[in-house]
Amino acid sequence: MAFFQPYQGTELLFDEQPTKFNQPVLLLKHAPLLEKLGLSHVDDTALAALLSGQQPLGEIKPASLAYSGHQFGQFNPLLGDGRAHLIGGVKLEDGTQYDLHLKGSGATRFSRGGDGFCALGPAVREFIMSQAMAALGVPTTECLSVVTTGHRVYRQTEVPGAVVCRVAKSHIRIGTLQYLATQENQAGLWQLLQQLGVQLFDGLAVRSERDVLELFREVCEQLVDLAVEWMRVGFIHGVMNTDNILLSGETIDYGPCAMMEKFDFNAVYSSIDRQGRYAFGNQPNIMNWNCARLAESLLVLWQDEQQGIAALSQILTEFSESFNRKYKDMWAAKLGIDEWHDADDVLLADLLKLMTEHSLDFTNTFAALTNTLLGNPNKTLQIPSELDSWQQRWQQRRASDDVATHLMSQANPILIPRNALVEAEIEQFNQSGSSESLDDWLLALNSPYEYKDYPEMWMKASTPAHYKTFCGT
Ligand code: AMP
Ligand code: MG
Ligand code: MG
Repeated sequence: MAFFQPYQGTELLFDEQPTKFNQPVLLLKHAPLLEKLGLSHVDDTALAALLSGQQPLGEIKPASLAYSGHQFGQFNPLLGDGRAHLIGGVKLEDGTQYDLHLKGSGATRFSRGGDGFCALGPAVREFIMSQAMAALGVPTTECLSVVTTGHRVYRQTEVPGAVVCRVAKSHIRIGTLQYLATQENQAGLWQLLQQLGVQLFDGLAVRSERDVLELFREVCEQLVDLAVEWMRVGFIHGVMNTDNILLSGETIDYGPCAMMEKFDFNAVYSSIDRQGRYAFGNQPNIMNWNCARLAESLLVLWQDEQQGIAALSQILTEFSESFNRKYKDMWAAKLGIDEWHDADDVLLADLLKLMTEHSLDFTNTFAALTNTLLGNPNKTLQIPSELDSWQQRWQQRRASDDVATHLMSQANPILIPRNALVEAEIEQFNQSGSSESLDDWLLALNSPYEYKDYPEMWMKASTPAHYKTFCGT
């Protein structure tokens, strides 16, 4: 276990001191992650100081990272960590590296008029959502802790402030490379790509244009996987700006996200996504669009621009091919089909059409199909009657009991972090500073493929009509 200052020599780091808080108190901690990072022996008081930025991690200087970003399609050349500090990197014994990043730890040169703080509610949301997503098997940044600061922050009303400590394989975003490209900082780009090759891609050496292509291909593959996984579990990110997409392919920024309940490719919850740019079904296209923006940033490294365009475009074509393949595999697993035939496109399309028309719950519909194969360990799940005739076609088509059960029980969760429950937890924390029900629910969310009976409210579609999510709160 070793702690170090990541991204040295890239000209991305700017020294910034986190705000001094009078009363940092450790509210939530992710014990297994603390253990993994070698921090489980540290007491809560010391953790509260460290994970709110009051105490540095050894000799490491806290810093904010610069980045650019396409926000809803519009390029902003300078965003950066406006309320966040990178407090260090950690290298585990097996060689894996992680960044430790605080959010809500105070204003920086990148704050652009924002206060630099984070309200307790969104911090709790990030803690719950990231843990649930990790347990669902979706690549994600993870929330190590939530520390309350004792400061009040001003949103629509006065609310308690908190600092989240977020752990990622790397916090480098597509927007980070856009920033270096905009600065025409080729040396910084090479330096960063070399570090990312080591940190993320098995020690890939990045010295030539060919190496850059290899890294780009790997990044695209990770982002294909991420988009497919979001679709599998019904996750709507809500703000897929290029500054919110990590090259590591981990989900980041649980601001305006939501879980889809009634199935609808057009589902949008974010209050600011008025055009539906980041609608559920649009996420793969946007991921591809974002990768094209990444390609543009990498292009500045080519001696011969035309050659660079041809080579990078080729990989973007491969992105689409790879996505189509993996997307089909994903639906095949959800339906218990071991080898996809062309006719299965119709079987799937008919199901999704019925689900949309009848507003069927995405998770519960697939869980009900899975539950029957498992011999109904959950007593409440029912295959909706609207699917009666479709179900007969599916029963004839699916793989053998063993194979279908194997595929479906790993692809179809029975528990997801339902929006109304996340909101209820947040409300509890806002009212009383804690929640008695969170422990039981989080424990269950940690095994989302365990088919058994659960309290009805954990499984019921209960997103309020006109539910809206918000970012930057
Ligand atoms: P996001 O919408 O969370 O991706 O944030 C977009 C940009 O706004 C990033 O540069 C953030 O650092 C910045 N930002 C968001 N909230 C705040 C805040 N309360 N204070 C300062 N900067 C913020
Ligand atoms: Mg962000
Ligand atoms: Mg955000």
